Amino acid sequence: MSPVRIGVVVALLTAGAVFGPSIGLSPAWITVLVMTTLVGVSVDAAFWDGRGGHLLAEALPGGRERLRRIALHEAGHRLVATHEGLSPGPTQVGTLACLRAGRQACGSTELPLPESAKLSLEDLRRWSRVLLAGMAAEVVVHGESEGGADDRRLLGRLWGLSGQTAATAQLEQRRARREVEQWLRQKRSDLDDECATLLAEAPSLRRLSVPSPADVA
Ligand SMILES: [Zn+2]
Repeated sequence: MSPVRIGVVVALLTAGAVFGPSIGLSPAWITVLVMTTLVGVSVDAAFWDGRGGHLLAEALPGGRERLRRIALHEAGHRLVATHEGLSPGPTQVGTLACLRAGRQACGSTELPLPESAKLSLEDLRRWSRVLLAGMAAEVVVHGESEGGADDRRLLGRLWGLSGQTAATAQLEQRRARREVEQWLRQKRSDLDDECATLLAEAPSLRRLSVPSPADVA
């Protein structure tokens, strides 16, 4: 935790204590926020690689755009998973939603586990499309992807366990990425709808107590 970030946290807490009551934030809530923020900061610094900072970033003005990007990524996973016959489970958008679900991430979508670790080539292709769909969705809308490091790691592990050569794995993943981008481009309005639905359900620290007009809209 850098001194600058500690300063920002202290400034936020002070602002919360001063302005909170005038915007309907009760003193009890402020106490809870202060306590959890202080605990959160130390946990964050020790284990979570800046995740407490993510939590704050999502609560600050501009956090909505960040959540929208995460929702878009997860929407890509959901659409392609459904298309591939893998019924996706619940999706969490944002660090707060992930914390509540016990996940150390900014966003996640639960998928049914593959039946065995050693997948057939057909299943590997299907999982490649599903796992690359989050990044592909970001590329379709923004021209580049920010998230997806976990997806890439999991995909690398699945291909690693499969016994296929590294060259095949690379070739197949590139092909899957192209296919999925193309498909999502065709399904752009479905992608936008799914993203909006996920975003509407995303909790953030700010929305816990006072939904702003922008959040309601
Ligand atoms: Zn992903």
